[in-house]
Amino acid sequence: MMRPYKHEPFLDFSLEKNNQEMKAALQQVEEEFGNDYELIINGERIKTESKIVSYNPANKEEIIGTVSKANKELAGEAIIAAEAAFKTWKTWKPEARADILFRAAAIIRRRKAEFSALLIKESGKPWNEADADTAEAIDFLEYYAREMIRLKDGTPVLSRDGEYNKYVYTPMGVTVVISPWNFPFAIMAGTTVAPVVTGNTVVLKPASTTPVVAYKFIEVLEEAGLPKGVVNFCPGSGAEVGDYLVDHPKTSLITFTGSREVGTRIFDRASKLNPGQIWLKRTIIEMGGKDTVVVDKNADLEVAAESIFRSAFGFSGQKCSAGSRAVIHQDVYDEVLNRVIEIAKDKVVGDPTDYNTYMGPVIDQASFDKIMSYIQIGKEEGRVVFGGNGDPSKGYFIEPTIIADVDPEARIMQEEIFGPVVAFAKAKDFEEAIDIANNTEYGLTGALISNDREHIEYAKQNFYVGNLYFNRTCTGAIVGYQPFGGFNMSGTDSKAGGPDYLIQHMLPKTISETL
Ligand code: GLU
Repeated sequence: MMRPYKHEPFLDFSLEKNNQEMKAALQQVEEEFGNDYELIINGERIKTESKIVSYNPANKEEIIGTVSKANKELAGEAIIAAEAAFKTWKTWKPEARADILFRAAAIIRRRKAEFSALLIKESGKPWNEADADTAEAIDFLEYYAREMIRLKDGTPVLSRDGEYNKYVYTPMGVTVVISPWNFPFAIMAGTTVAPVVTGNTVVLKPASTTPVVAYKFIEVLEEAGLPKGVVNFCPGSGAEVGDYLVDHPKTSLITFTGSREVGTRIFDRASKLNPGQIWLKRTIIEMGGKDTVVVDKNADLEVAAESIFRSAFGFSGQKCSAGSRAVIHQDVYDEVLNRVIEIAKDKVVGDPTDYNTYMGPVIDQASFDKIMSYIQIGKEEGRVVFGGNGDPSKGYFIEPTIIADVDPEARIMQEEIFGPVVAFAKAKDFEEAIDIANNTEYGLTGALISNDREHIEYAKQNFYVGNLYFNRTCTGAIVGYQPFGGFNMSGTDSKAGGPDYLIQHMLPKTISETL
């Protein structure tokens, strides 16, 4: 019998065994540095002249690998391969499709340390963040496989005398998956296998900064028995290949996670009907956040400070769920701010290959420049009370930066920075704190630290976010436990890792038979 879903536990690296295993895995992935990775179209490896170079953001000299880069023509071939594979893949029984995901999860579980080590090197994640990314990839496989089995016979509908009605879910067709670099394994894998398990075929364009982990994942799917052409690996530039794939008349569904700028561009392009296209494209688009940790007067201030710190600086603040705003009741403002500064002083910023590192680099030069320019803006809009400096000489390092006494309308309170920067704002009372938190075009995550039951109830009604947390961080949603997605400019609120997710990859069909 199938075991019930349970999320993959996080590893404790203070245990010698886990620690040694990760060190060995880091060495193992280093041995593969500089390898060349090809496109995969209809199961065939294709080498191109032009390459994407993936390097370690903590040490720019370290080349993780070079990856062939698709152009429009090859992207077109990938769509044709996916279209051809769809004809048979859609006829596979849902249970058989799910079995491939179960097998892939088992393979990754056996190679967990290796995948996490690769994430440390390719994306600059510290050990615990890399481990969480790998665990979440496994969770998506395990959860969506079970979800497909749950949905395989559709949803019951009523029948009258003399008829038999059924309501079932059918696959849509070619899905274009454009995945982000900040969860280069989990979100890439989750957004790929959701269309696959529902019977669609995929052209995957992984983030250009983290293509190697995506290639390794496609190898796992092949090993697990996925037929050729069901997932086609197609790295390339957004402007050339991304637009082409989105515009293609044979594309049915587009699933994207990334910036607001690209997300709205995709949304716009997907709405256009191209010659030969006989359907309206569907989009699943997850974009940014300007997420807030609110601290009430009656609250555990240690929990508040820890939650603010971890929400702001986990993976250098490069999460759409990152708590980039702390809004604090005036009576406890100074105490919480000082405590967050204390915590920051204790944490190591540096090479994430070292187990002791709390925070590594940011992803690339463009991110570094953007974040540093926001810190500059922050210096004018508030008081930098911690950090504020960056050094891009070896890797893209920026200090955890805390900016106090910021006006709710300030740019650093309104615009997504996607880096290790948190702005503190003071509220005169609890209701004003929630108003400040809601004063954003986004609506992804939020946390309230409070021991006041009425305030907690008020927040449930009025804190306008897709993922609301109490007395904890506003990051770290778990597949199957805290389905993830946000309101307003955060995206289509598709709720990855939730019970409504797979349905968005299928066309419901009503079948009514007269008996
Ligand atoms: N699901 C992640 C979390 O809850 C964030 C995903 C993202 O940043 O794209 O922290």
